[in-house]
Amino acid sequence: MTRHGDTPFGPLTTLIHAGRDTAAQHGFVNPPIVRGSTVLSPTVADLEGHTGRYSYGRRGSPTVDALTDALKEIEGGAHVALVPSGLNAVTTALLAVLGAGDHLLMVDTVYQPTRHFCDTFLRRMGVAVSYYDPHVGADISDLMRPETKAVFVESPGSLTFEVQDVPAIAGAVHARGAAVIMDNTWATPLLFRAHDHGVDLSLTAGTKYLGGHADLLLGTISANAAYAGALKAAHGALGLCVGPEDLFLALRGLRTLGVRLAHHQAAGLRVARWLASRPDVARVMHPALETDPGHELWKRDFQGASGLFAIELAPGSKAAVAAFLDGLKLFGLGYSWGGFESLAIPFEAGPIRTASRWSPLGPTIRIHIGLEEVEDLIADLDAGLARYAAAR
Ligand SMILES: *Cc1c(COP(=O)(O)O)cnc(C)c1O
Repeated sequence: MTRHGDTPFGPLTTLIHAGRDTAAQHGFVNPPIVRGSTVLSPTVADLEGHTGRYSYGRRGSPTVDALTDALKEIEGGAHVALVPSGLNAVTTALLAVLGAGDHLLMVDTVYQPTRHFCDTFLRRMGVAVSYYDPHVGADISDLMRPETKAVFVESPGSLTFEVQDVPAIAGAVHARGAAVIMDNTWATPLLFRAHDHGVDLSLTAGTKYLGGHADLLLGTISANAAYAGALKAAHGALGLCVGPEDLFLALRGLRTLGVRLAHHQAAGLRVARWLASRPDVARVMHPALETDPGHELWKRDFQGASGLFAIELAPGSKAAVAAFLDGLKLFGLGYSWGGFESLAIPFEAGPIRTASRWSPLGPTIRIHIGLEEVEDLIADLDAGLARYAAAR
């Protein structure tokens, strides 16, 4: 099987065939894991003329190419860079476009460590950062300054799942000559075609659904043609690279990303609908639910939903939340998500927001629905809600 390039195949087929050159792999279905720093040249002329495909391990390898080639086809951009974590994908994308004196508009519902980087490192670098309401849409123009270089979107928002009007934002931002950077971790390029919607630099925490097994950390950044040079320059200057075992695991995860996401979506929606019907659940934050405020935008722009959403419980004590979560048998209590297993964590989003209000009446819990039997997950949550109701 050779690479398909610009073929008319659908996304599931592309996931299976992209980035694989089995003839060059001696017929083996998967590429070998190539380890190495030094790359030898046959002559001084070759060394100095960079005639080989590879020059140094940090600057690329067949294992790096296997994953970047595959992701490039799936993202539909001009260049893909791989970095050691999702947070590093965020910071590298920002550093690729921002310098001292520039202004950044950052969505208020962003992943908290992204916010930390902006409030510490970027400010120290001399970048002014202001936060905006996720519902801003084309009115982002009113917040832009002459020195605004980039607008960062994350849709749906971390923890509370507000859907942003990315095409409207991109239209307004491009009219002013700035860049749109997106954290596309929730949907992955399979369920949100970021470049098609005007995003210049689209990043994901490959740690989540790309890896899919909670056994690696990785970040991906895809740039369109306008920002490919800036991305390459930042990635090279910062000296970023990923170990070959993690690259291989991510490539392995990529092959099953389509079927896993389809299951996460279907199972997640079933659990979300069941939760919405429970008297002790005040609200379910899941853009694929018809009642969700972001549903229409989600339906217009997304190809599907993943398995991560949140609930607000009826008012109750911290102890009651602990009774709910501590007794769960199938849901793990832990950070990150996107693996095969179900997870639940309590969160408080209100105190960190500065440009939008978030003041739920009851405790809030983020839920990741894994690949277990849905009935078993619902029974586990049912028992948890009974403990919550008894302890409220
Ligand atoms: C987890 C996450 C990240 C960071 O990924 P790491 O690999 O843990 O660094 C970034 N953005 C979002 C939306 C995430 O959920």
